[in-house]
Amino acid sequence: MAKQETMTFNKFQQKFHSEEACHDYLFQMKWAAGFCCPNCKHDKYFAISTRTQPLFQCKKCKHQTTVTVGTIFEKTRTPLRKWFAAIYWAAQDKRGVSAKFVACELEISYPTAWLMLHKIRKAMTDRDLPYVLSGLVEVDDFYIGAPTENGKRGRGTDKNHVLLALSKNKMGHPLFVKMKIIHDLSKETVQNFVKATIEKKSTLFGDGHASLLTLKEDYTIQSKKFNAKEDPEHLKWLHTTVSNLKSFVQGTFHGLDSRHLQRYLDEFCYRFNRRKFIQEGFNRLLHSCLVTTTITYSELT
Ligand SMILES: [Zn+2]
Repeated sequence: MAKQETMTFNKFQQKFHSEEACHDYLFQMKWAAGFCCPNCKHDKYFAISTRTQPLFQCKKCKHQTTVTVGTIFEKTRTPLRKWFAAIYWAAQDKRGVSAKFVACELEISYPTAWLMLHKIRKAMTDRDLPYVLSGLVEVDDFYIGAPTENGKRGRGTDKNHVLLALSKNKMGHPLFVKMKIIHDLSKETVQNFVKATIEKKSTLFGDGHASLLTLKEDYTIQSKKFNAKEDPEHLKWLHTTVSNLKSFVQGTFHGLDSRHLQRYLDEFCYRFNRRKFIQEGFNRLLHSCLVTTTITYSELT
């Protein structure tokens, strides 16, 4: 994708002042090379105005479509302007936003805000799915307890076991990260995670797990027990990332439900992987939302 423009909140408000402005922007982004019928690829259409949003009818096959078909906005009753604002915050705010904040600022119900953010998270998950890490990669597991709400104990206190892979450059600086909730630390689980997440021939740095050694045919393994005194650099960024993740989960999502933890991990990784492009975040995330199909409340719960 071409370099994205910088988008301050002020510019954002000026640019997306109306439903029409948001709609036109989506049209341009979806059909950057001109309209293309999703049914027959024809490029000519009639615009039919409706009460909600314009309908485009293909001049050749008469198929009708809208800009939101096949996107996370499909069938939404929430104005695009509110969607755009939620995406802006989700993309540009380093710590992410909570459903409570979005509901309050956009004057919508909490369940609506909650569902919007989960749809946006799905776009983040889908966007990162095809990428694999390569080169020098740290691999380790950790536990994360979903935080309690108002000190109440309950399913929120479940301990979740997570595998993490973090690639770094030759200077040892972190590049990209991936995380996956696991149910055990068996050889198969570790192998499946590594094979799905990390390119073959990469060098893996681990914390002495025997499971990593079983991958030595496809990867170079440098695994040793972590000792902060002897070797403070070993897995340093990985441990820093885990502690940042924990404060993200604690700080933004009080009362996080374990069932949705993987999406929050994906959100953290998505933002981490794009931390150098935060000013372009809105356009990048909006594009991901346009190419991701929606998810319903019942699919989520
Ligand atoms: Zn057509």
